Amino acid sequence: RFISFEGLDYSGKSTQIRLLEKYLTDRGYQVFTIREPGGTTISEKIRDILLDKTHINMTDRCELFLYSAARVQLVKEKIIPLLQKDYFILADRYVDSTTAYQGFGRGLDLNMVEQINQAATFGILPGTTFYLRFAPEQIARRMQKSGRESDRLESAGNAFYRKVFQGYEILAEKNKDRFCVIDANLSIEQIHHIVVKNLIQRTTG
Ligand code: C5P
Repeated sequence: RFISFEGLDYSGKSTQIRLLEKYLTDRGYQVFTIREPGGTTISEKIRDILLDKTHINMTDRCELFLYSAARVQLVKEKIIPLLQKDYFILADRYVDSTTAYQGFGRGLDLNMVEQINQAATFGILPGTTFYLRFAPEQIARRMQKSGRESDRLESAGNAFYRKVFQGYEILAEKNKDRFCVIDANLSIEQIHHIVVKNLIQRTTG
């Protein structure tokens, strides 16, 4: 019942999460949706630090630790207790984002990232990860279209996103049992349909 959504910025994760949340609540399930970094009072404060555009001198390791610190709090305070209460947890990003962005994107040592990820999650991973795949070259276009202002991280440019993309591709390949790869260029309705179909298959089969 723990489901995460991953993908590059503007891949449409949050739209899909809203649709899935509605689908599940309409059917009487209890759903808790989380957005990383965030989801608890402490984690939201860490989010503010991370997304503050004036923090241009933040080191890559500092970024890694802050994302991970926000996650520990979220796992302890929300994910573990709510899974015990049989909630569906829908996560807008989780540990794979750290591997892709801080590991591959920022180029931090992948073994170190993996150890920190393990410590931050207590080994609790989603049963299903929907990876909305689209080419890093499309980010700029979607960014303009959405009118959503870019944040501190987007200034890193296309080369950064190409590395993050590669990271996601490797993660998807390595975790085939958990990853469900979806073309983010499909329509919102098509993607939602694939998500639902996949969940039904996984929970009934
Ligand atoms: O796409 P979303 O709104 O979830 O991402 C918020 C910002 O945080 C994005 O700019 C994304 O690149 C960044 N991020 C990151 N490392 C993570 C998670 C998110 O750099 N582990």
